[in-house]
Amino acid sequence: MRAENATSTVDGNVLAGLLAGVLDGDVTTLVGVCAGCGAAAALAETVVEIDEAGAIARCRSCTHTLLTVLQEGDGVRVVLGMLRELRRG
Ligand SMILES: [Zn+2]
Repeated sequence: MRAENATSTVDGNVLAGLLAGVLDGDVTTLVGVCAGCGAAAALAETVVEIDEAGAIARCRSCTHTLLTVLQEGDGVRVVLGMLRELRRG
C-alpha cells in the first residue's frame, strides 16, 4: 500500500514552473525575509548601495546584506547573503 503523501525525486527542471511563480514580474514587490533579524519586507524597501560594479541590498531593520547584484561584462551575478526567504504574496 502506498502512502498518500509519498514524495518523488526528479531532476531540477521541475523547478522552472515553481520558481517562475516567484521570480516573474516586478521583483521589487517580492517580500524578502532577513536571516539576521527576521524582518520581512518588500525588496523595494531595502537600503541599496549602488555603484558602477553593482548594488548591495541591505535589510532596513538590521543593515545585514541581503543580496548583492554584480554587473560582469554582459552578465549579471546575484550573490545571496542574509536573504533567508523570498516570497510573492
Ligand atoms: Zn535584518
